[in-house]
Amino acid sequence: MQEERMAARILDGRIIAASVRADLEPVAAAYRQAHGRPATLAILAIGRDPASSVYANSLRRAAAALHMDARYIRLDEDISDVDLRRAIEDLNADPDVQGILTELPLPPHLSQQVVAEAIDPRKDVDGIGIRNLGALFLRLPSFVPATCAAVLEILDRSEIALVSKRVVVVGASNVVGKPLAFLLLSRDATVTVCHIDTRDLAYWTRQADVLVVAVGKPDLITAAMVKPGAVVVDVGINVREDGAISGDVAFDEVSAVASAITPAPGGVGQLTNLMLLRQTLLAGDLLDAEEP
Ligand code: NAP
Repeated sequence: MQEERMAARILDGRIIAASVRADLEPVAAAYRQAHGRPATLAILAIGRDPASSVYANSLRRAAAALHMDARYIRLDEDISDVDLRRAIEDLNADPDVQGILTELPLPPHLSQQVVAEAIDPRKDVDGIGIRNLGALFLRLPSFVPATCAAVLEILDRSEIALVSKRVVVVGASNVVGKPLAFLLLSRDATVTVCHIDTRDLAYWTRQADVLVVAVGKPDLITAAMVKPGAVVVDVGINVREDGAISGDVAFDEVSAVASAITPAPGGVGQLTNLMLLRQTLLAGDLLDAEEP
């Protein structure tokens, strides 16, 4: 008798992004109408990394589709901590900028502390500053890293419940794994975080009702590492030797075991830019509400 194989539901980021975009259009339009200009996200990039301009261009396209503005500011590769702080402070003070994104990782000579401390928390729409991360930890309202917001958006819009579920997050970075773990905890999931020193990764991933992978290693997660019927969210973006993009999950084999899975590309990445723009619109409204 042939073994029965499940075909996972595909959590299609493109379809979900289209409905998020439709929700954001009137919000962006209302902001434009009230201010006579679009809400603006400033993107600070340091140096000439080609990946950074690809990312900035995709953000600009996403912003343009909503008639919002994404202002790209490129700083010299050898900029000092003092000048970086000054550039951030200029944007903090600019009334035409509602959100600030600093592309990470920073070149090694710069201190992460400058960025974590200098961005006005009210404009820190990628939630990487100390104030927003602290608020997230305390379960207070905060801007959260866009990738984490994208993961939750996919799960929520796909009606995947999190309360009491065993969720395993593979990856523990400051921008994805760790804040995502706290967000999932605040949704009352039971959360385990795995990282490079986790012993017997497969043991932990097989416990997951919902498995989120954010590592940056193609095919790290194979079918044997996934509990049948689990939901799998692949955050990874990897460029293979032949130039093809893939996630961290061996999609073909895992989709035969999982009940639902995000493709990569075409999954989380589709939502990340929109989450940044949504948070920029929210920042604009919150800044307005503070005005006397
Ligand atoms: P990162 O800063 O390099 O962090 C990777 C994490 O994975 C670290 O916590 C590391 O552990 C852990 N790790 C490395 N090898 C591992 C292994 N063999 N087993 C278990 N854990 C392992 O990367 P990141 O910025 O979090 O990004 C992760 C991936 O997501 C990358 O592929 C990135 O391109 C992608 N990404 C996608 C989006 C999107 O919109 N789709 C957005 C951001 C990032 P240690 O902490 O112990 O070093």
